[in-house]
Formats: sequence, structure tokens, C-alpha cells
Amino acid sequence: MSEIYVALDLEATGMDPERDEIIEIAAIKFRDDRVLDRWETLVRPRATVPLSITSLTGLTMRHLRQAPPFSAVASRLREFVRNHPIVGQSPEFDLQMLAAAGLALQNPVYDTFQLATILLPDLPAYSLASIAARLGISVNQQHRAMADVETTMAVFLGLRDLLLEYDPETLRRLADYARTAGLPVARLFDEVYRELTGQGAGGLADLLAERLRAALPGVSHAPEVVFLLQRDRPERLEPTGRARPIDLARLRAWYGQDGPLARSFPAYEARSQQVQMAEAVAETLNRGGQLLVEAGTGTGKSLAYLLPAVLHAVERGETVVISTNTIALQDQLFNKDLPLLRRALEEAARSDSELATAAAFRATVLKGRNNYLCLRRWFLRQREPARSPAEALLYAKITAWLPQTNTGDRAELHLSPDEQAVWAQLAEEEGACVPGRCVFHRRNQCFLFRARAEAEAAHIVIVNHALLLSDMLADNRVLPPYRHLIIDEAHNLEDEATAQLGFRLTQEQVRDIFRRSLSLDSLGRFSGVLGELWQALADVPARRARDLAQDLHARIEGLLPTGERGIQQVERLFTQLGDFAQRYQVDQGSYERQVRLTAAVRHDPAWDLVEEAAENVAIELRGLLGALSWTLTRLGDLAGDELPSQDDLVTELDLLVRVGHELHDRLVETVAAPSPERVYWLSLNPSTGQVALNMAPLDVSGPLREHLFSRCDSVVLTSATLTIEGSFGYIRERLGLPEARELLVPSPFDYASSTLLCVAEDLPEPGEPGYQRQLNEVLVPLLRATRGRAMVLFTSHSALQSTYRAIKRPLESAGILVLGQRIDGSPRQLVERLKSRPETVVLGTNSVWEGVDIPGEALSVLVIAKLPFSVPTDPVFAARSEQFADPFQEYAVPQAVLRLKQGFGRLIRSRTDYGVCVVLDRRILSRRYGRTFLRSLPDCRLEVTTVAELPSKASEWLHRRQETFLATSPAGEEA
Ligand code: SF4
Repeated sequence: MSEIYVALDLEATGMDPERDEIIEIAAIKFRDDRVLDRWETLVRPRATVPLSITSLTGLTMRHLRQAPPFSAVASRLREFVRNHPIVGQSPEFDLQMLAAAGLALQNPVYDTFQLATILLPDLPAYSLASIAARLGISVNQQHRAMADVETTMAVFLGLRDLLLEYDPETLRRLADYARTAGLPVARLFDEVYRELTGQGAGGLADLLAERLRAALPGVSHAPEVVFLLQRDRPERLEPTGRARPIDLARLRAWYGQDGPLARSFPAYEARSQQVQMAEAVAETLNRGGQLLVEAGTGTGKSLAYLLPAVLHAVERGETVVISTNTIALQDQLFNKDLPLLRRALEEAARSDSELATAAAFRATVLKGRNNYLCLRRWFLRQREPARSPAEALLYAKITAWLPQTNTGDRAELHLSPDEQAVWAQLAEEEGACVPGRCVFHRRNQCFLFRARAEAEAAHIVIVNHALLLSDMLADNRVLPPYRHLIIDEAHNLEDEATAQLGFRLTQEQVRDIFRRSLSLDSLGRFSGVLGELWQALADVPARRARDLAQDLHARIEGLLPTGERGIQQVERLFTQLGDFAQRYQVDQGSYERQVRLTAAVRHDPAWDLVEEAAENVAIELRGLLGALSWTLTRLGDLAGDELPSQDDLVTELDLLVRVGHELHDRLVETVAAPSPERVYWLSLNPSTGQVALNMAPLDVSGPLREHLFSRCDSVVLTSATLTIEGSFGYIRERLGLPEARELLVPSPFDYASSTLLCVAEDLPEPGEPGYQRQLNEVLVPLLRATRGRAMVLFTSHSALQSTYRAIKRPLESAGILVLGQRIDGSPRQLVERLKSRPETVVLGTNSVWEGVDIPGEALSVLVIAKLPFSVPTDPVFAARSEQFADPFQEYAVPQAVLRLKQGFGRLIRSRTDYGVCVVLDRRILSRRYGRTFLRSLPDCRLEVTTVAELPSKASEWLHRRQETFLATSPAGEEA
């Protein structure tokens, strides 16, 4: 590398170039890894530095008061940078800030963030620190300009070194895609490409590629060649013929304080609750049947089921499927718990050789088909240039990722919503793949089929609820055969089953059927599957094929108006639906507006127009499907050598017929022939204007019982929140498990001494005048008194925003940072900031009620703004409520209790945690049902208080608890 670069970074009072100001600038001039020069300065802003910036940078007005203004340093910066390429982490922001301050730099720019998203596609986050950590670069300080510039330079050099590991063909493609995507890093790819080809790189790999390319005409470049080499297939799991039950006495010993688990799991604590659960799981695996287990926080439930599952699966040579709702839990099971369990088994096997087989258990994670890159589709696409910048960027990412990935799983790529839409065209689509005709499948290279083969060979297969249920709907054609099932996070199963058994119908889906079947290209030629088939048939020399081409041509000519009319009718229908939705829409506090299609709504004369428009679409669809089916039948009459060589076209035709019939039936059902067993609604997204027709089943317990639970010998369902006042009645009924055995394992944590539950009794009830204002007013003194360390949980984003606006300024003037979900970042980012700076308050909605884990003092106060009842106008909730004699007591309350328990569970995450849970909804005291909520929570101290006393009560209790903790903890004793 001979070019000189300048790494640049600046700190500012905020992220808005129009409003905010620069407070610090640093730059390093370098060539290769040699620093040529450094420059840095503080800059005096006109306005004061906000707390959120001081909390990040440590810079206050005390530091900046004596600094020069920007106008005094601008020319020195320009002189330092000259015309060298600028390297930065998301430098666009820095350049915009400089331009807004009067210094517009036009230099070439290399963005380390952008480079890393392409070259390190599997990073969970692309902050400078995360990229540096992946490259093994240590970061001493963050969010100060010079420290960040040093890291940026090191990261840039590290990323550039990665580029040198690619073969020249891949680099050339990367440069092409980056150019199409309009990325300045294309220049860097070119530069490295020249460097590599100048050195005659490639060697053996290129030679091999060259030979294979000669043998395989049509194969265009080196990576494809690699995927045409044969790979080994793992052996399927076979029954061992043994059926020795798990020995419960030996199992208990595993969980002892001196047992094998204690020796392998860091900070392991023996817990009687965990043993109790493990025994119940083992008994269920031994004897069969169904088991419901509520295991309170801290039980260690994953280990309580993983060990019996492994012992059972290895003994019998049978698969145990474990299903979770979240990716986080899948990751924890697969990447943390199972490897530690294997280590424990390996250690134990040293003194008990029988365990050697168990230690060799095989486990895998299996995902739905659309998660895996289809190599056939990918390499076909590669022969054409990218059609848009978004597509080009994704192609660049895939090109760089393909030589590294072993799974082809899109989770490694962290796709944006736009990229996910492009990905859908590169992943396997239901029915579009014919494995027998695919070369990648024959060589065992196809990612999807390799993942399935690994699942067939595994003792433990981890899936998510969505895949478990789609396998159920596909008569178990996706997962390997299994008879033992463990469902974790089982409180989410009903919602996921509702989603999987329902559907959503959009304008794009219906319009696509017409477009994909037949259209005209820009030159007026036939395209779409029928057009391409006609062309392909005409090229086949056999007479019968050419006869069919002639007939098809006549058919297509007649069909073109149908396609055009169809598309117009689809547009008309969805415009009618949009107008209809506008008439009924209610703001439900969510992103989507929903209108339930009840009998009364369907009696509205405006619905007649919708029915008429839907019937017109259905007529055109039937015409199209008739032509597609006719073509399929005629193709079936041809012999193998009379068929066109592109079998993709026949597969696509087959797929269109199936999908088209499904859409037709769904449209007719939703608009004109609704089933009493189902609920239907219209949804309207106000920001995109997208309208959709939706269906959900009223009841999922029947299908779950019939097609999932009854098919298994043993089923264990577990969660920290399954019971209401100690009863499993509600969940049994919702999931269809009347005969399941049950076990309630309380948390091993001492809530009586660790948790104070505070309820303010003099606040108005939610919905009463003044509630929101008083809620905002009480939060300020409360969170000042506790110095933040808090999370406030809301049930709607509009309530969150209102509180955010009201409390931000008064709390930040007291040095307490206020962060709102979707205002200041994602839940994950906010949680990280709360952990690193406890004098913070995080306001969150739905996604932080579950799965957030903040042990220690950073989360000492949990505020529940309102009891989490469902929105009464939610179509599924409203329709299901009608099934109950007392819908509120039998349905709304239990549902909200389970949610409250989930939210409450965020507070105490370890034996040494303590904290205050504040409920700002006095219905928990004033209403009869409030007792159900209170009795469902762990046994903690309840303090009924007033708004005025709340801050002192909470802070004094925390203070006392902290003193007790310091006095009793080992560190406190030493002190
Ligand atoms: S077997 Fe199917 S999914 Fe796999 S690469 Fe071939 S076409 Fe794609």
C-alpha cells in the first residue's frame, strides 16, 4: 500500500448537523501502518453540551470554555487533510457536520462501517468497538476523537488485510457490486485487486478453478467451482435398540454442588428446584406423556431439561426436538449451554466410561427454508448484473461471505428490511426447488439440505416455534422424525400458532401472480413464465414441442388482456379496501390500524363494492389459473427429450398454479365466505399505506393437540410464566393439554427480602382524566431519588413518547439520562447503555417486557406504567373474548397476568440482586381482579403508598438494602 490516508473523527453536541455543533476533532495521517502526523483540537460550541453527550464523551463546558471556535480551526484541518482519502467510521456524519460548520471536504471517503458490513457479515453489531474486537484490536477509550481515530486507523488496516485473503475473481466482483451500489469503497477493492493480480496471486486455487471451469462450461468463477466439489454427508441417527430409562438417583447427583455440572459450569449453584424439574423431565421422557413446568427465574431450567434430553436421546438413538421462541435462547442453548454440558459429560466420562457415548452427542439448530441461501438461485443471479443499489450491496455482502460461511444461514448477515426483500429471491421458495435436478444437492453442498441432513443425524435438534408449527402443518416433512419434544418459552406458543395457522394477503402477492405468469418486457416481447416457456418450447427441435409452442402462443395472446385486467382489478380491490379501512380505523396505539371484519361491518353497503371488486379479481385469477394448468397438463404429455432444457420454468409454473389457487381461495374466503371458526380483519399501515387482509384461527388448541402433541410420546412445555395464582388451568385450555402433568417450581431467589413492590394508591386510574400527567409528574421525583437505575415499561408507544417528552429535561438537568425505545435506539442498545451508565432511565414497550437481562444495580427500579391488558379493539383478542361467558375474568385478566409476570421477572436476575417494582396502576389495589395479579407474583413485600411518599420510600428502601448487602457480602465483610 503506498497511498496516504487520513483517519478522521469528531465529537458533537448531537446528531443533527443543522442544529448541533462540533466539540472535538482529531485526525491521523498514515501510510501502511506508519503514522505520518497527528492533529487534534477541542472546539468551543455556542450552546451547552447536553447530558447524553457528556455521558458518552466525558466533555463538559468546563473543558470547552477555553477552546477555539470552529472558524479558528477550519483552515488547519483543511491543510492537514489536503486531498488524501479520508477514512472514518460512518464518516458521512462527520463530513456533514463539517460542511454545516462551513468546511465542505470533497475527498474520497472510505467508511470502515460499510467495509465491515461487507467483510465481517456475521458481526452482531457494527460499532467501532465491535469491529475492533473482532479484529483483535484493543480499545482503551471510546467516544473521544483521538482514541476513536486511532481505533479507526487500526480497524481500516485490519479490514484491508482481510481483502488480501480473497481470490482475484471475488475481489473483482466485489468491486463491481460496490460500484453499482454507489459505494466509494469500490476504489479500495480495485486497488487491492490490482495489488493481488500484480503479484500473480491465485496459485493452486486458481489453477484448480481453471481446470474445473474448462470441464464445466457455464460455470463462471472460482467460488462456484468450490461448491461443485463433493461433500460428505453425516450418517442418519439410527435407533440403538436400547431403552434403559434415565436413572433418577444418578441424575440427581449430576446437579449436586460437587457434581459434574458444578465442575464445568462457571459459578454453578446447586438448586433443589432445578433437580426437581430435571427429575420431572426425565420421568416424562421415561414414561411418556405431557408435562407443564413453570420454573421461576433462576431455576436453571435449560440445564434441567438439556441433560435428561441428551441422556435419553443417546441411549435410544432418538431425536429430541427443543423449540424456543427467541433467537437469543437458541443461541444460549447451542453456543453456551450445550458446549458446557458436553464438557461436563466428557469430564465425567473419565471415571465412568459409559458416559463417553453421551459426551459424543450431536446437536444442531435447524431453521426454516427461507433462511438458507439457495446456491442454484445465487449462481444463476450472478450471471446478470445487479438491478439496484440495494441489490448490489447485498450481492457484495454475499460474495464476501460465501467463502467464509459453513451454514448459508442469513442470520450471519444481519440483513436490513430492504435486503431481506432481495434475499427472498435468493433463498429456497416453497416448491421452487427440485432437489433431484440440482447439482448442489447431488454434491451435498446445498445449505438447506445439509442443515436437514445434520438434523437427521442429531440427537438434539433446536428449532423455533415458527418452524415447529410449520412442520406440523406440512405433516412433518421438514423436521426429522421425532417423538420427544421440549417447548421452552411456552407462554408464546399460542401467539405463534395463531400466526402460523393464519394468513396475510397483500396487493403485491396477488399482483405478482399475474406478473410472474405473463407480461411484456420493455421491448414488447412476451415474458413471465408463460412467455419464457413459449420461447423455450419453440427452440426444442421435437415437433410435438413446437406444436405446443404454437398453441401456447395463441393462448398467450388471448391471455394478455386477462393479465392486464387482473392487475387493474387487484389495484381497484386494494384501493377499495384502503378506503373502507379509513372509514373504520381506530388508533390502537400500534403501528397498524386494524378493522375487524365482523358480520355488522360486512353489512355496510360499502363492503358490497369490496365484494364486487374481489369477485372481479377472482374471475381474472381463475382465467389465469386455467391457462397455467392447461400448459402444465400439455407439458406433462411431452416426453423427457421434448421438454425445454430449463426445468426451472416447469418448476416455476407448477409453483404458480399452487400459489395462485391458494391466493384465490384465501381471497374468496376472507371477502365473501368467512368461516365462523376464524377471525378476519383489514390492516392499514399509515406510514406505507399498505393494506392487507388477515385471518387467524379463533382456537389453536385443537390443531396443536391433534397434529403436534398427540403425535409425540413425550412433550414438556416450560416457561417462567405459565400459571395464574398457581393454577395451570388457563394455559392448559389455551394450548389443548387437558391431561398434562404439572409442576410448579418456585424461583430460588428470596423475593421477600430482595424486592419491594410499591403501589401508589392516590394516582388516577389509567383512562381517568389527569392519569398521564400525574404519571409523568411522579416519575421525575421518583427517578431523581433513585438516581435512575431504572426501566419504565409501557403498553403503547404513544404513552411512552408522551412520558419521554415530559421527563427528559427535568431528569437530565439532574444528571440522569433518559432513553426511549425507537427514539434513542433499539432495546438492545438502550439496555447496553443502562448497563454501562446506571444513572439512566430506559423507557420501553413490548419487546422489553421479555428477554431483557440486567443483573446487578444498573436495574434497581422497575416501573410498570399500566397493567398490560390487551387493546380491546385488537381483532383476535376481541373475537376470542366472545368465546367466554366472562371474557374479562377468564381471558383478559389471565393474559395480562402472564405479561405482568414476564415484566416483573426483569428486576431480579441473580441471588444477590435487589430492587423496587413500582406499579403506577392503582387498579391492582382498587379492583377485585387486582388480587389475581398480586397473588400471581412472587412473594415479596408490598408497600401501598402515596404519590408524595413514593420517591422517599423507594430510595430509602434501596439504600437500606444496599447497606445490608455491603455488610453481608464478602467484600463488605472485608471492608
Ligand atoms: S437443492 Fe434446492 S435449495 Fe438447494 S441449492 Fe438446489 S435448488 Fe437450491
